[in-house]
Amino acid sequence: MAGLTYLKSVVTLELSADQCTGCRMCTTVCPHDVFVIKEKRARIVNRDACMECGACAQNCPGDAISVRSGLCGCASIFIRGQKHGRMTRYFFRMWGYEV
Ligand code: SF4
Ligand code: SF4
Repeated sequence: MAGLTYLKSVVTLELSADQCTGCRMCTTVCPHDVFVIKEKRARIVNRDACMECGACAQNCPGDAISVRSGLCGCASIFIRGQKHGRMTRYFFRMWGYEV
C-alpha cells in the first residue's frame, strides 16, 4: 500500500543505521515501503507512511528499529486477531489488509 500517508510527523519509528546489517528484512515485511536499502544499510524514505504495525522492529535481527506499535490500538487489535467491527474492517481494507 505504498503511497498512503497518515498524520504527518507523529510517527514513533526510529532507525539506528549503525546497528543495521543490511539484511533487507524491513523492506520485505513493511507493507508501506517505508524503507529502502542504500549502500548496504536501511534508510527511512517515507516515515509518514508508517502505520506503526511493528513488523519491521519485530523482524529486525540487529535491533536497529524501534517503533511504538499499536499506539492507536488498531494495529494491535488486528495482529492479536481480536473480534473487530465493521468500521475497523473498513480501515484495515483501506490500509490494504484482507479481512
Ligand atoms: S531489518 Fe534491521 S538489520 Fe535488516 S536491513 Fe532492516 S534495519 Fe537493517
Ligand atoms: S511499523 Fe510497519 S508500517 Fe511502519 S515501517 Fe515498520 S513495517 Fe512499515
